[in-house]
Amino acid sequence: MSRYRLLPSTAQEAVLRDHCAHTRYVWNLAVEQQSWWRSGRASAPGYLEQCRQLTAARAEHDWLRAGSQMVQQQALRDFDQAMVNFFAGTHGKPGWRKAGRDEGFRVVAVKPGHMRRLSRKMGEVWIPKAGWVRFRWSRSVAAAKSYRVTLDRAGRWHVAFAVIPEPVPAPGTGQMVGIDRGVTVSAALSTGEMLRVPRLSPARQRRLRRLQRKLARAKRGSGRRARVKLALARLRVREADARKDWAEKTSTGLARRFDLIRVEDLSIKDMTRSARGTIQEPGRKVRQKAGLNRGILRSGWGLLVRRLEDKAPGRVEKIKAAFTSQRCSACGHIAAESRESQAVFACVACSFACNADVNAARNIAAGHAVTARGRSPLGGRVNREPQPIFLPA
Ligand SMILES: [Zn+2]
Repeated sequence: MSRYRLLPSTAQEAVLRDHCAHTRYVWNLAVEQQSWWRSGRASAPGYLEQCRQLTAARAEHDWLRAGSQMVQQQALRDFDQAMVNFFAGTHGKPGWRKAGRDEGFRVVAVKPGHMRRLSRKMGEVWIPKAGWVRFRWSRSVAAAKSYRVTLDRAGRWHVAFAVIPEPVPAPGTGQMVGIDRGVTVSAALSTGEMLRVPRLSPARQRRLRRLQRKLARAKRGSGRRARVKLALARLRVREADARKDWAEKTSTGLARRFDLIRVEDLSIKDMTRSARGTIQEPGRKVRQKAGLNRGILRSGWGLLVRRLEDKAPGRVEKIKAAFTSQRCSACGHIAAESRESQAVFACVACSFACNADVNAARNIAAGHAVTARGRSPLGGRVNREPQPIFLPA
């Protein structure tokens, strides 16, 4: 999904903000209805029922009726897709959207004439109720069926054209790779390569921590607090951008090099990796691991896997991850003691030694597929368009 900086006029920005507010309202309404549902009761309202309720809500509230029905309906459709993803185990449960944090909406049923180029560096898109809104033509724009408009926490508007990446042709060499979402590195390949998600530079990380301390001290509602928040948001946006870029490049490279790509199935909870450990074997260094796990979440792993599935359709397999970190990839012996440290695996049976994450990646490469994404209990991906990705708060 390619993003472009959107440059609305002041009047247009008011319309865009309304679209965001309507979308959030409709989405949160759907979340609320879903939260009433308990197993045993009648099912929570589906998309069609919610559309009827939306029509009723629009009849009742002038504020909602003044907005675009298409934008509001799309919020329901996105929520529906989020629930499908949730049941498929590939995504978390859709949660509440907060003002100022999750601002965005989607425009669908886009016709080719709804986007045009004005000059070498400027283009414009058609947005309901706002009309033609300019955007920076910073790189080539592919034809899209929908676009998503977002307002980030740094106050910048973007338009992202939902273009499903072209599948990358398989090399046809029969080469297979296992990828482990490592703890010490972002991802380890069974070939021994390490992939590292770009992080903020040490200087920027220091600045981030300084700003966080400042924010904690700043009075609520003060101008100082608002300035610190904005500066923080800018840093986080920069980090997220770098991560997205990394996921695009890495997924293309892997899809080009390997015929088959095996990754862990994250929908299956792996107790050997849980920071808290099991009752029989309580975890050690729980606090440190919890911090690392947050880092993994941030690491863009989910984005990488989604992009791999887009670019190498049918060539990505998900593997049950149980014991991949304790099993010796050379002789198959499973022993917790072989995990010498976070970084080193040294088999107690055959004395094979290697980087712990690479050892896990080799086990994944040798593993057996359990489920491939796309065969969800609700019939799979109804809509192949990229889903909105929200930054962690
Ligand atoms: Zn061994």
